[in-house]
Amino acid sequence: VKQASAKSRRTIAPAIALFGGSFDPIHCGHMAVANAALRAFKLQRVFLIPCGAPPHKHNRHLTPYPHRFAMVSIACTERAEFVPSLAEAGDDMSGREIFYSVDTVARFRQESHSDARIYFIMGADQFLEIETWKNYRKLLDSCDFIVANRPGFRLEMLRQVIPPKLFGPGPLGGDRRDRMHPGAIPLRRTAVYPLVTVSSHVSATEIRRRIRLKRKISGLVPPPIEEYIQKQALYR
Ligand code: ATP
Repeated sequence: VKQASAKSRRTIAPAIALFGGSFDPIHCGHMAVANAALRAFKLQRVFLIPCGAPPHKHNRHLTPYPHRFAMVSIACTERAEFVPSLAEAGDDMSGREIFYSVDTVARFRQESHSDARIYFIMGADQFLEIETWKNYRKLLDSCDFIVANRPGFRLEMLRQVIPPKLFGPGPLGGDRRDRMHPGAIPLRRTAVYPLVTVSSHVSATEIRRRIRLKRKISGLVPPPIEEYIQKQALYR
């Protein structure tokens, strides 16, 4: 019995996930994704990383970083495994710098245990635009991906945005997590895991719109986030 448990411990490496976003505001869709990923991939930590100035959404003025970080921090009190991350706050903590995911992953890789699995969590809408991300081939080589189902985006499309030469045998010595995810798309060094156990229609755009129209947002954000938005008079 002792031998068997030692073996099963060996076959599952420590795993963390990075979940980046504008989180303007963080909402129940994000929390559903983080919780589903935590369960399905036996993660030790999920780092929620509010972006600084996002290269993707430069057409919209984001709520100042301190508010977005505060909301992420409040939401992270839901679980011990959820960690609010200042990784993209910048040296002056203003959140005004542009950070690229490929560099953020590299930094976490440097600071992590050598055999740790690093997953990057994103919604299907984001993954389908991966070609617009800086050094996306290198990014796809540098960590595993958990891609959450998002209503309106088909998970069957994920393969089509991956350059053919990036497909491969998947992570070497695949552990129990790989065997438990038969829908995984193996790449040459990493893998993309569709997360089908979540289906949330919530978006930050819709929340901001509802607040502008003086409609209720209860049920769309965790209650303490609703309270924060109200106290700080955000999105009016
Ligand atoms: P906005 O409406 O302002 O564009 P958003 O609701 O998409 O925002 P982001 O902070 O941009 O939220 O999202 C961060 C990450 O979470 C992205 O990878 C996004 O795809 C994912 N995500 C957001 N909402 C959902 C959801 N309801 N289901 C699955 N993934 C989601």
